[in-house]
Amino acid sequence: MRKLVLLVSISVSMFATQAQTPVSGYCGTQQTEADLVWLREFQAHYTPGEESRGGSTYYIPTKVHIVGNDEGSGYYNLNYLYQAFCELNERFAETGFIFYIFEDVNYIDNTDYYEHNFLDGGEMMDEYNVNNVLNVYFVSDPAGNCGYFSPSDDGVAVAKSCAMPNGTTITHEFGHFFSLPHTFYGWEWGTPDDEDQEWVNGANCNSSADGFCDTPPDYLPYRWNCPGPLQTDPFGDTFYADGSLYMSYSNDECTSRFSEEQMDAMRANLLGPRNNFLDWPDPAYAEITGTATLISPNDLAVDVYFNYATLEWTAVPGATEYHLQLAFSPSFSAIAADVITTETTHTFTDLAGDKKYYWRVRPLAPANTCAEPSLARSFTTGNMEWSDVLESNVFNSISVYPNPASVASTVTVNYNLSAASEVMFGWYDLTGKLLAEELINSNSGSNVLSLPTPQAASGIYMLRVQVSNHTETIAITLGE
Ligand SMILES: [Zn+2]
Repeated sequence: MRKLVLLVSISVSMFATQAQTPVSGYCGTQQTEADLVWLREFQAHYTPGEESRGGSTYYIPTKVHIVGNDEGSGYYNLNYLYQAFCELNERFAETGFIFYIFEDVNYIDNTDYYEHNFLDGGEMMDEYNVNNVLNVYFVSDPAGNCGYFSPSDDGVAVAKSCAMPNGTTITHEFGHFFSLPHTFYGWEWGTPDDEDQEWVNGANCNSSADGFCDTPPDYLPYRWNCPGPLQTDPFGDTFYADGSLYMSYSNDECTSRFSEEQMDAMRANLLGPRNNFLDWPDPAYAEITGTATLISPNDLAVDVYFNYATLEWTAVPGATEYHLQLAFSPSFSAIAADVITTETTHTFTDLAGDKKYYWRVRPLAPANTCAEPSLARSFTTGNMEWSDVLESNVFNSISVYPNPASVASTVTVNYNLSAASEVMFGWYDLTGKLLAEELINSNSGSNVLSLPTPQAASGIYMLRVQVSNHTETIAITLGE
């Protein structure tokens, strides 16, 4: 069982308005010829169509780092992360790349990284990059940009405000990561010499700008709305830049594609200098059918135990994990907790009393974050602690058979709980010595357990059953 719980500290700072530094819509990637050595070599030997590795699927391990401030707030919302990865994979579908979230999300609390300059951003990547995977950092302000790829630190930083649904910044930066320059490469720092400007006649298409002959000239190093202005090359030929390309600076809504040559370069880059990415075992990609339905507590439930709130939902075919999101607001912008669990239930033991919470569940599968979250529900906690009503409410009944039973075999334990709980089963001899114990995650309602009996001499033994502060002890005779 894998369970990751992130409880955001419920403090005043949680509700304080985040001072949001406005970031420009620009990309801060600063590639120079020194960073493009591999690409130039690839392009020098490239024949369109020959290098194509289309049709194959490549799983790209992607380590996600979510950066908050020193107080541990301001995190990029996981709900957007899953949506962003789904959109990313749709946009890269033609390349055959499928990005998947590598292991658990890494949370970093550091204001210097949350709003960083390039120096601190580099330090962050040096400190936290995981080897042989693509590292992406979601921050508030990546050096005043929407995002950037750092060739020297080999990581990508993205502003959370530019990683919202339908944004294409992540796609653009990952293009840089796999070797692609801007389509307007050369214009970032002013007007290039005439021979370094890509001409409309195509004569210098593989020796100027991005070096791709199927991306037309583009002299627009600023954000523009398609179709953009009419431009003129050194021969007086006029043209429009292609705003459909992700590697241009046209507005996100204009972009929809990589060119064939760009895709060939990215595949060759993966299979060349980044081929160690492919050493990881492929995730077992699965389709997910449908969405979760919330079961318990009922919508608008009141007096839910603040120290024992059990949430339950339906299993979804294909899902291997669930993202349970608990929030203070119906918009889910103020997050109380994010839980990733393989189970279809989770118990919170440290909620606030007399507080309204909203919750929803998104099913997840390896490399597939596209399933929609459930409809949300809300509940309100009460004042009463769960332990006040523990004995009468939780532990209902227990029976063990056969009795007598045999040593080193099993007995069947039937027990009934009124809330999902962890139950400890311990075998003791008559001197009180513990012989074996086992902790069992148990459901609300009826439970049936096949419990191993100890390897011991024949005699009478005590089976002690503990649920929180309630204990039952049952004498069991064990024979050979
Ligand atoms: Zn860029």
